[in-house]
Amino acid sequence: MDGNAAPPPRPPLDVLIAAPRGFCAGVDRAIRIVELAIEKYGAPVYVRHEIVHNRHVIDNLRAKGAIFVEELDEVPDGVPVVFSAHGVPKVVPARASERGLEFLDATCPLVSKVHREAERLVDQQRHILFIGHRGHPEVIGTLGQVPDGAITLIETVADAETVAPADPDNLSFLTQTTLSVDDTAAIVATLQRRFPSIRGPRGEDICYATSNRQAAVKELAPQCDALLVIGAPNSSNSVRLAEVAERAGVRALLIQDASELDRGWLDGVRTLGVTAGASAPEVLVRGLIARLETWFEVSERELAGATETMIFKLPRALQAA
Ligand code: SF4
Repeated sequence: MDGNAAPPPRPPLDVLIAAPRGFCAGVDRAIRIVELAIEKYGAPVYVRHEIVHNRHVIDNLRAKGAIFVEELDEVPDGVPVVFSAHGVPKVVPARASERGLEFLDATCPLVSKVHREAERLVDQQRHILFIGHRGHPEVIGTLGQVPDGAITLIETVADAETVAPADPDNLSFLTQTTLSVDDTAAIVATLQRRFPSIRGPRGEDICYATSNRQAAVKELAPQCDALLVIGAPNSSNSVRLAEVAERAGVRALLIQDASELDRGWLDGVRTLGVTAGASAPEVLVRGLIARLETWFEVSERELAGATETMIFKLPRALQAA
């Protein structure tokens, strides 16, 4: 055996990278709010719930002085607390005020817009059918904007087929911001067929970032043999990206980062698509490419996609920080 033999050549792999991908304006803003709160108030700053659903982001902010808790009761008196990008039920800021806690609301403005619309509909005494996934923090936050009984959660087309509202002529619908565009359209169509006078936003409340990332995956999917989505399993918009790819007929896998990728999953793959959910930082995409380069001769190309220019203002308390 020749101990000086050259390593075998790496097989080629074309990597097509979706655009847009990764951070959206709401996630950018939420992370910035925690960073600026730490600068302004000093560490520790408490954050109720993961500020965005990404382990890498959470670990980075924890290293800077953020402490993540699930409930307000875990926040000691006298320290500032930030509410996550997903939004919170009204009772949470109310309880924070009662306790005299300084709080900063990192709820994405596009989620806040749905909250305000829900309140407006309740003022008009309309019953709301809210399309979303039970248990997701955004859904808990939105349901918590209105009194019990004012809103009914619709998760599936089957729910839309069977819901029996007391006053079918006085309905409106709203949606979670990070849903599947196609699933939501099917649910809305069912509601509109059953309740022709139902009112709702034009299209739905799915945010620009969610729809742009899904559109990019639809464009990418037919061009690749398999597709990797970088994102957390509890990140709604990331899970939807993997679903969109699979429905387009391409094998897809959601991974939190490169360390979760098994070389065997790529067997037979010549062209690999890559995208990242709205809470996944670009550094994780670069980490994935670096890992792929240890196995393959990678040639990388980014697809052209929608240009995103959205920027959200910071809360007033931090604008001068
Ligand atoms: Fe806001 Fe959409 Fe980003 Fe969620 S995914 S934070 S709703 S822009």
